[in-house]
Amino acid sequence: MAPRVRFAPSPTGYLHVGGARTALFNWLYARRHHGTFVLRIEDTDVERSSADMVTGILEGLRWLGLDWDEGPDTGGPYAPYSQSERLDRYRAAAARLVADGHAYYCYCTPERLQAERETAEQRGDAWRYDRACLALSADRIAELEAAGAPKAIRFKVPAARTQFADAVHGPIEFDGANIEDFVILRSDSHPTYHLSVVVDDMEMQISHVIRGDDHISNTPKHVLLFQACGAPVPQFAHVPLILGADKKRLSKRHGATSVTEYQRQGYLPGAMVNFLALLGWSPGDDRELMSTTELIERFSLEGISGGNAVFDTDKLDWMNGQYIARLPIDDLVQAVEPLLVEAGLWPPPSVEWLRRLVELLRPRAKRLTDFVDLAAPYLRDRIEYEAEAVEKHLGTPGLADHVAALMSSLRAVDPFDEPHVEADVRRIAADQGIKAGTLIHATRVAVTGRTTSPGLFEVLVLLGRERTIARLEQLLNFLATRV
Ligand code: GLU
Repeated sequence: MAPRVRFAPSPTGYLHVGGARTALFNWLYARRHHGTFVLRIEDTDVERSSADMVTGILEGLRWLGLDWDEGPDTGGPYAPYSQSERLDRYRAAAARLVADGHAYYCYCTPERLQAERETAEQRGDAWRYDRACLALSADRIAELEAAGAPKAIRFKVPAARTQFADAVHGPIEFDGANIEDFVILRSDSHPTYHLSVVVDDMEMQISHVIRGDDHISNTPKHVLLFQACGAPVPQFAHVPLILGADKKRLSKRHGATSVTEYQRQGYLPGAMVNFLALLGWSPGDDRELMSTTELIERFSLEGISGGNAVFDTDKLDWMNGQYIARLPIDDLVQAVEPLLVEAGLWPPPSVEWLRRLVELLRPRAKRLTDFVDLAAPYLRDRIEYEAEAVEKHLGTPGLADHVAALMSSLRAVDPFDEPHVEADVRRIAADQGIKAGTLIHATRVAVTGRTTSPGLFEVLVLLGRERTIARLEQLLNFLATRV
């Protein structure tokens, strides 16, 4: 049977990298085994959920390329896929559990429960529901019902040892005796997470539940619910948490945690997917750069490690740089264009020229947004000299004469291509009795204002004769003001 997996975000926040990684593992598993990837929105917490958050989560998943086969917008055989539209099913399931003797009504008031809890805590005990309502007489129940007392539904936890299989952690055993009779339907007839998640996984025929380790303590309750409902228990895989460099759980303190934020910061979706895949999973060898197709081919639940994963931003930057280096140039230009427009670095002399510029700059870019700064000198008319560049490369005695000599020589170079321009720069340096490097560095400062750039001769040819000469002229003016 082809697996059916799901990603079940609660839209109480944006798509967090941890959530995205969970979604990715589910998606890879579904694609690897030609199964079905279901997207289910767990929005039963009406107060904290919002439609905007849902939109943001869907956009984040789409950006990463994680398409779903069934979901709130696409529909599917088990629609609806938003829990807020499935409340009747949870109520019906809870009623069935009561009818079958697996659950019971609890009339205890929050005040009574609170008082009990406090008394237990004063004694130094952990409080657990005392099953008071399990022992109610028929008369007492009739009385409470007649008075219209609010009632919740509690699951009657069987006191027995039970086991479930976890693909990451191995078999996990628990004792029902340690689990209290938890609420499945609140007195306002809203389901708790435990009930809605199990009813949906059951009704949606989910075969594998791949989710974060933070849910592992909930799983015994879910296993008991599946069993009480007479449904097969899915295969579980609890994936390790993502930690920051300081080994604390990844949070805003560590920088961006939302997928949209990474998109905004200039990361490529392919790099993000590759990076997220390696957070807690490994293909079993040292391969790091893997296309999405390769990830699908190699992904397995066995490759997920039990230990926590560390979010290493330097590695993400490195990986993104690798993806930038490999992206088809037209795609890269297209990705960079809106950033240049936004920065006012527009228009370039021609599309062909921009393509060449982006090609020259890309070995230096780690993020798409780096192109704004890298490209600025080439797209602005006036060059601003960085202090470090001035200090390092413009102090050579007699530099103005050397630059003037280069300028007049470059006016005549024909054709104005890399070999000829290079030969010319080197010849002028020799004629002037200075090292070629000295003239090259000063010329780089003239045309970019900076100490680093792509190869100078490529840069000069890209700028063309006119702009190169205009910039050398600007440098001469600058040098003149300095003496
Ligand atoms: N809605 C839950 C969450 O966002 C996920 C539940 C699950 O995967 O079982 O944490």
